[in-house]
Amino acid sequence: MTGEQSRLYDAFFKEGQEVLKDNPCQIKRAADGVIECLYGRGEVNGTWCCLGCEHLTRDGCSVKSLGCKVWACVVLERKEPAVVHALHIIRGHARNAGVPMYIRASKEQNA
Ligand code: SF4
Ligand code: SF4
Repeated sequence: MTGEQSRLYDAFFKEGQEVLKDNPCQIKRAADGVIECLYGRGEVNGTWCCLGCEHLTRDGCSVKSLGCKVWACVVLERKEPAVVHALHIIRGHARNAGVPMYIRASKEQNA
């Protein structure tokens, strides 16, 4: 990853965080400790879309994954189309700028 791609990776990740800051996925911990979101029940430390990921820790996601940040499942797409549209715009800008953004990959793994 070039210096400019690295800078853009961070900037697009931040934009994604801003879009998701009001928790449109409705991620919360249920009474039994399992994480729930619009899609359904995930696992103790993460949502359905993070199931089985090597980067999922006791404290949730441990890496800065741009690919994951701008990804959305079909349920979120159906229930929050404006949010997903905003994520798609960021993804498009990142793609046009040649920024690598594999899902389930840290920034270092994308480099
Ligand atoms: S993208 Fe879908 S599965 Fe992932 S946290 Fe949001 S609602 Fe849940
Ligand atoms: S890298 Fe992606 S799938 Fe893995 S824990 Fe982080 S957000 Fe979830």
